[in-house]
Amino acid sequence: MPSLDPRSLIAMAGVMSLLMALVLWLMRRTYPKSIRGLELWAAAPLLWLLSTALFSLRGRIPDMLGLVVANTLLLLGAMCYHQGTRRFFGQRPAWRPWLLWLSATFAVMTVLTVVYPSYLLRVGFFTVSVSIVYGALLTFLMRHGGGSFPVRLVQVVLVLHLLVLVFRVYTLSQGLGGTDLMDRDPIQTLYISAYTLTTLMLPLGGVLMATDRLRNELEHLATHDPLLPVLNRRAFMEAFKHELARARRSGSGPALLMLDLDHFKAINDTHGHQHGDAVLLHVVERVQASLRSTDVLARHGGEEFAVLLPETPRADAQVLAQRLHAALAQGHALDCTVSIGATAWQGADDTVDAMLLRADAALYRAKDAGRNQTCVG
Ligand code: GH3
Ligand code: MG
Ligand code: MG
Repeated sequence: MPSLDPRSLIAMAGVMSLLMALVLWLMRRTYPKSIRGLELWAAAPLLWLLSTALFSLRGRIPDMLGLVVANTLLLLGAMCYHQGTRRFFGQRPAWRPWLLWLSATFAVMTVLTVVYPSYLLRVGFFTVSVSIVYGALLTFLMRHGGGSFPVRLVQVVLVLHLLVLVFRVYTLSQGLGGTDLMDRDPIQTLYISAYTLTTLMLPLGGVLMATDRLRNELEHLATHDPLLPVLNRRAFMEAFKHELARARRSGSGPALLMLDLDHFKAINDTHGHQHGDAVLLHVVERVQASLRSTDVLARHGGEEFAVLLPETPRADAQVLAQRLHAALAQGHALDCTVSIGATAWQGADDTVDAMLLRADAALYRAKDAGRNQTCVG
């Protein structure tokens, strides 16, 4: 491995840190408040920048600043990134033990710089100290991060960085660690390159995680009802078209239920709109509990819902409809009756529009026949 000039590498890390801090700070200002932790993610590269500036002034400023404070800021940056990640994944930051660890590191580094100066012990101790923070971050992401690409990327960066840190401790123990960070030797270059890459990749991982979260939130908004935890009509139509295309290939088609609450206007008028909303939510919960995981429930409009039942013959759809009537007649204060129009796929020539028309017509017949019942079309 060629040994690059450590000061140039460190300066490069500084510029990258500043850019990443700026990007994360701008994202914090423009992204929805529901995406949390960005301020701590932005603080991390800023602290790394400060730390880098102090490192690069070494020799010209007291060692307390160029060594002890610089390393402490680096560690604090890693802690900010860790706590920001906790916030991002909905956990409260847990600062107390980490600030204690930061103080302990500061104290030990001071002793090993001023009282009993030892390059080897100092580097060895600091490497372990940073590894503990990155290890905790990696463990947190394994438990709570899920499996998205940006999370995997950050995990890989952390694992590689930890491997380099372990290698560093090993080389130190073998007397190969050099005598100064600014030595031009391959092991120092490897360590500083890994540090440079990590200060770029961790904030970049933050940017990617936040963008991924934003995309998911927008997708959810575009496909879900704003009031009830069900799909909206647009997403339902997509699922329906998809299901009919699949049915044409497999020969086994879906059934469709259109479900409309009976005399819902009267419920609103008597008990108020909020009570009406609670009834809607109750109906959704009861219906959802009766469905299979592959069934799709959507709000078709107002107090009307559509249920897509993949690979379901007409008779099974009728049985399910009866189960829905029963599920909403269990004596709960929010129970109400519903009318249901059901229809089943009639073969390769059947279409989304035709099925919706049949289900609608059946629903009207159910209303006409006195409500609280299912008709099949
Ligand atoms: P029918 O048995 O014939 O279906 O009578 P209905 O009263 O249920 O039907 P109608 O279409 O006359 O009234 C539907 C009512 O649903 C009117 C509307 O204000 C109410 N509604 C629609 N969306 C919501 C909502 O999100 N929340 C509440 N509380 N009410 C809603
Ligand atoms: Mg109604
Ligand atoms: Mg209606």
